[in-house]
Amino acid sequence: MKVIRTIEELRAEVKHRTSTGAGPVGLVPTMGYLHEGHASLMKRAREMTGTVVLSIFVNPIQFGPGEDFETYPRDEQRDLAVAESNGVDIVFIPGVQEMYPKPTKTKVAVSELTSLLCGASRPGHFDGVTTVVNKLFNIVKPDFAFFGMKDAQQVAVIEQMVYDLNLDVKIVPCPIVREADGLALSSRNVYLKPEEREQALVLSRSLNTALEQLEKGSITTAGEVRDLLTKVISESPIADIDYAEVLSFPDMIPLENDSRLSGTGNATILALAVRFGKTRLIDNALFQSKEGIPHV
Ligand code: AMP
Repeated sequence: MKVIRTIEELRAEVKHRTSTGAGPVGLVPTMGYLHEGHASLMKRAREMTGTVVLSIFVNPIQFGPGEDFETYPRDEQRDLAVAESNGVDIVFIPGVQEMYPKPTKTKVAVSELTSLLCGASRPGHFDGVTTVVNKLFNIVKPDFAFFGMKDAQQVAVIEQMVYDLNLDVKIVPCPIVREADGLALSSRNVYLKPEEREQALVLSRSLNTALEQLEKGSITTAGEVRDLLTKVISESPIADIDYAEVLSFPDMIPLENDSRLSGTGNATILALAVRFGKTRLIDNALFQSKEGIPHV
């Protein structure tokens, strides 16, 4: 496994591998502090491509003022061990100076899809994401790029960017990896105090309860789903709901309260963002996606 810190070296190494018949290139973009969720993306990339590039970059331009850019957890040595054990060929770890030697005057912004949910709570966040992902695509030139459905809105936004700009890369959405008790893995889970970690289980519990009741037909409308999600989350006295939404996926249009979820054939996403103390967690579940994760 090669550890590369400059764009020039990364380009040369990918070119070398591709020209010597290594096969398609897969990119797994991350901010590091790797866990099994990230590992699942690396494994999928390993299955599908001949050169697996893992990028680790805590991207300052996707953090708002007062967010956790400075304190975001970092552990390079452990990350390298995780990457190596998951068959990564190249780890790209650029510094901020390498990615942004001067303040960027160009940004890539996807409209509409970014104006709600995390886009509304974190203004500018998705512009930072699409700009850095575009840079990474231009640097690595991957055939496939792997993203987790943990960040489902991000998947929708990136798929839209690829579609609109005719980017020559195939996005591979990968399922959410959870702890045994249901909590979705996240680098930010380390921020949780024991009490908050316990209470955070209301996220997956609310999603599971809603999915079960939808399957049974005991609730059918978006309004009933919203109410149920809110009710189960509110069983935690410390849960502070940012949003508990029901939308079409991947176009991310909020469903009317009286709109029925069953029998439409379209995928629906149940999307949550909830604060526990200082930590904001997100989670989601798809309903009616038996054919897999829908594409734009
Ligand atoms: P991050 O390092 O948080 O920016 O995440 C990098 C990639 O890993 C993103 O595509 C995330 O959606 C994905 N990811 C993070 N957590 C999980 C998880 N629990 N399951 C699957 N993918 C995940």
